[in-house]
Amino acid sequence: MKFDEFGFEPPLLEGLEAMGFEKPTEVQEKSIPDILAGRDVMACAQTGTGKTAAFLLPIINDLVKTPAEGVNALIIVPTRELALQIDQQLEGFSYFTPVSAMAIYGGRGGREMEQEKRAIKEGAEILIATPGRLKSHMEMGYANLKTIKFLVLDEADRMLDMGFAPDIMQIVNKLPRERQTLLFSATMPDQIRKFARQILREPVEINQAISKPAENIMQAAYEVDDSGKVQLTRHLLEGKENLERVIIFAGSKQKVRELTRSLQQAGMKAKAVSSDLEQDEREERIRLFRSGNIPIIVATDVLSRGLDIKGIDLVINYDVPGDGEDYVHRIGRTARADASGIALTFINAKDRRRFQRIEELIETQIRRIPLPEELASFTPRKGGRGGGRSSSGRGGRQKGRGRSKGSSRRGSKGGRKK
Ligand code: ADP
Ligand code: MG
Repeated sequence: MKFDEFGFEPPLLEGLEAMGFEKPTEVQEKSIPDILAGRDVMACAQTGTGKTAAFLLPIINDLVKTPAEGVNALIIVPTRELALQIDQQLEGFSYFTPVSAMAIYGGRGGREMEQEKRAIKEGAEILIATPGRLKSHMEMGYANLKTIKFLVLDEADRMLDMGFAPDIMQIVNKLPRERQTLLFSATMPDQIRKFARQILREPVEINQAISKPAENIMQAAYEVDDSGKVQLTRHLLEGKENLERVIIFAGSKQKVRELTRSLQQAGMKAKAVSSDLEQDEREERIRLFRSGNIPIIVATDVLSRGLDIKGIDLVINYDVPGDGEDYVHRIGRTARADASGIALTFINAKDRRRFQRIEELIETQIRRIPLPEELASFTPRKGGRGGGRSSSGRGGRQKGRGRSKGSSRRGSKGGRKK
């Protein structure tokens, strides 16, 4: 289907075209009609599936069609990075419309607070806010949220993990009951359902089935400190000549360099593939890997998506991938019709929680293999950052699930009024 089949207003369609959006993603196609029809919606779909536009487009459309005074929509998000990201997308979609928006988030000084205050008072139509900061504004009395028609809770799972539930409930209790509420989340544990029942009214539930790894992939993981990862890799690869193609994904170019050198020193035919190389050279190495002349490739995860290589015997995630989709994508490279592949992931204490999320997403408990005896000293402390294997980490404020989208940090932009 195409975007114009939703019956969007012309200036919004123009914005979509300018943004290069041609057709809706699955979650957009499933949720936009219900949102346009005025229903509450809770949608669960993994990261990167286009949830932002799924809620922004119908809201912008409504504001173009029936403009109203004051703050019309409130989008609550867990982090300032996300607030800025959404603000940016919104700016693109609404470029040809008179809709105005403001991102409101903590960690900034009095001048920005003033700016935010003005936007709230003068009625930016859409506020994108982190819970704490919004509460500060509300406590000072000038934030009139009685005009709100739309409430969006984005990344609801993450907000609950970060301990924002009480803040959110306090905010929600100040909003008009007659409103449309939309909840978006990458996972839908019972906890979220319970939370949603308090806030949404007879919601339509949308679930986008997650892609799961093929069954014939043997998945396992090692808990290991960063300082033991090189040795563990060598231990796994030494003397395994039967492995024709091995690919190792590491989190940075530097790690790629170091690991490659160390494997080469141990006499293994390993080559690095990272953005350090010229395109030609990269392609040449990949060609040699495909043809079986280079058995081991070490690559940055940045490149993992672009590498079109199949038929790999072993994938090693030297670092835990950013999200479940990346994980599934990477280990999918081992899937071959006639044979089963192996995917091993190295988890340090810091990445435990992230890996747990990946397990939740793919609904699979991945087996932990104890480190070989001579490397046992590299076993991470139990209960380190990110909590243990149970869900005990919940409820507390946890920083840094996943990587922050670093580049948006410089954004002192904050918001805009047209
Ligand atoms: P999610 O919130 O589900 O993690 P996002 O909404 O951030 O995902 O979207 C992921 C990326 O996909 C963004 O870069 C966004 O611009 C892009 N995107 C979303 N929907 C479409 C679409 N219909 N056509 C093209 N690109 C899209
Ligand atoms: Mg999102």
